[in-house]
Amino acid sequence: MRTGRGSWILLAVGLAACSPAAPPATDRHWGIGIHGGAGTFTALDLPAGGVAEVRADMERALMAGHAILARGGSSLDAVQAAIVILEDSPNFNAGKGAVFTRDGKNELDAAIMDGRTLGAGAVAGLHHVKNPVLLARRVMENSPHVMMVGDGAEEFARQQGIEMVPPSYFRTEQSWQELQRHLATEKGSGKKGTVGAVALDQAGNLAAGTSTGGLTGKRWGRVGDVPIIGAGTYANNRSCAVSATGVGEFFIRNVVAHSICTLVEHRGMSIEEAADAVVIRLLGEQKGEGGVIAMDRNGNFTGTFNSQGMLRGHVGADGKPVVSLAWPEQP
Ligand code: ASP
Repeated sequence: MRTGRGSWILLAVGLAACSPAAPPATDRHWGIGIHGGAGTFTALDLPAGGVAEVRADMERALMAGHAILARGGSSLDAVQAAIVILEDSPNFNAGKGAVFTRDGKNELDAAIMDGRTLGAGAVAGLHHVKNPVLLARRVMENSPHVMMVGDGAEEFARQQGIEMVPPSYFRTEQSWQELQRHLATEKGSGKKGTVGAVALDQAGNLAAGTSTGGLTGKRWGRVGDVPIIGAGTYANNRSCAVSATGVGEFFIRNVVAHSICTLVEHRGMSIEEAADAVVIRLLGEQKGEGGVIAMDRNGNFTGTFNSQGMLRGHVGADGKPVVSLAWPEQP
């Protein structure tokens, strides 16, 4: 069939009317959500700093992200700022507070992703980079690559002027004692958690980032889900932003973060439904312990976990941070 110019215009108008409408601006509420890890936290079993310090760190991280979003800054900048604060705290298994490998070292992984461009940067096996999330961002923006590891990643960090520290910077007594317990019992005991953030900015762009020291007693060179784009970290403006925490091997095998976003985009599920399907049902059946935080393109936030606890929080335009340090006796 031949179609004249006028028909093309009519067709275009018709298609526009049929395609799903972009959410009206009033339905979209910008904000940021964070996690401080999933595991067997209990009221008496939190990081050395205790409940008050952990809560204060998390509120500070949320409000740093909030300040950026409130002045019209990007979700990427907000995610990065929140993660840097948590990396600098000894109370989380990322940056300063990273846990120890089997041979008594700290090996750090991180990733960041831009939901607008699908640009992503990831780093793994770092020993000297103070804030791994900053290096992940440089990999995304200043290199043609997505992932860099080990010595090569650290050489790139030096070239980029990223702050380097001696390995002793990462040593905390709590992480050291946790390694000794792990070596004696071969059991994991999560007293400090990986950190992550998801955000939606005023322009409607999503971003996600995650940073970790991995698992206590992990073998040298082991890389978890955090820097694997689609497993521990993923963001796509068409669906959602996700940051995961838990036993990374399960999150890699089930491509958790991307699976959640796929259910949102292609099955029309809400982030709660999608996170339930993947984290509670799929990982639950496999006994893959952990959780995720997720934010959709309207700024809805969920924290979903199958572990005993997951430290999490979020803040929206009202600037009132909500932090949950969930353990059985305090839902
Ligand atoms: N997912 C991280 C890893 O396996 C650890 C964690 O989240 O606690 O490296």
